[in-house]
Amino acid sequence: MFAVSASLVVASCGSDDTGGSQPTLTVLAAFYPLGEAARGVGGDLVSVTDLTPPGQGPHDLELQPAQMGAFEEADVVIYLGRGFQPQVEAALANSPAGVTRLDLLDSVDLLGVDEQLAGTEGEVDGEVLEGDVDPHVWLDPSRMITMVDAITNTLAEIDPDNADTYRANAETYLTDLRGLDREYRAGLAKCRSRVIVTSHRAFGYLADTYDLRQIPIAGISPDVEPDPRTLKAIAAEAKAEGVTTIFLESIAPPDLAKTVAREIGAELDLLDPIEGLTQDQLDAGDTYASIMRDNLRRLAAGLECAG
Ligand SMILES: [Zn+2]
Repeated sequence: MFAVSASLVVASCGSDDTGGSQPTLTVLAAFYPLGEAARGVGGDLVSVTDLTPPGQGPHDLELQPAQMGAFEEADVVIYLGRGFQPQVEAALANSPAGVTRLDLLDSVDLLGVDEQLAGTEGEVDGEVLEGDVDPHVWLDPSRMITMVDAITNTLAEIDPDNADTYRANAETYLTDLRGLDREYRAGLAKCRSRVIVTSHRAFGYLADTYDLRQIPIAGISPDVEPDPRTLKAIAAEAKAEGVTTIFLESIAPPDLAKTVAREIGAELDLLDPIEGLTQDQLDAGDTYASIMRDNLRRLAAGLECAG
């Protein structure tokens, strides 16, 4: 009798293993950092598709017709609402009621965008959400931790049989993020300047959490001629704040940033807003945390932080 029941147990384990190798949930993620977090929590149990292709930014994503079907098949769609990607919200409005919608903006404290300096001109398009809210929540590791918790709770709710696995996976992923948060707190604790001048107004949440102040450069298009009043206002403020580095997001510096840097004798450096990894970055094994650590090194150097 014993031998028979043992073999039954083995057989049922075997069939579970076969089932376990197939993802049980299909997840659509709006863009890279959300997709990485979903893969971190879901592991082998989820199949995650990023709606924003590698090398593209998420702002005002244009969905391809072929992507529409994915909304019907999805168990969960993880996104940022409030007009961040209007086409994703439109597709969700037409999706079956059974698709779980997870708007991560609902899980974190939101901030308005950092004001441009008086006297500066030029608009930054697609960077402000409904209610004048700043979308760039993922660039703050402490808010990312909260968003990973929201993803974990959602996956555990719709697939309760695997809740323990989601929580265990999340713990591993969060350990790295908590370490990253501690590195930011320590690395930016004592700095000669706490002001970051950025070409892309993406670092407001990071500045909020780690006690920095962001001065966004307006008129970031490389084709736009530097406006003399804007130039003067930014150069004066940057000089008064002891700024020695101007942070850009792409390798081609806009004329205005170059001119401001020359005017006050500052260096130029890059910060990655992790809006979409390029295929090269993905091939190199870059992750949210590895890029954020690189950003921290550049911030600490540019702000002349001790330790
Ligand atoms: Zn942005």
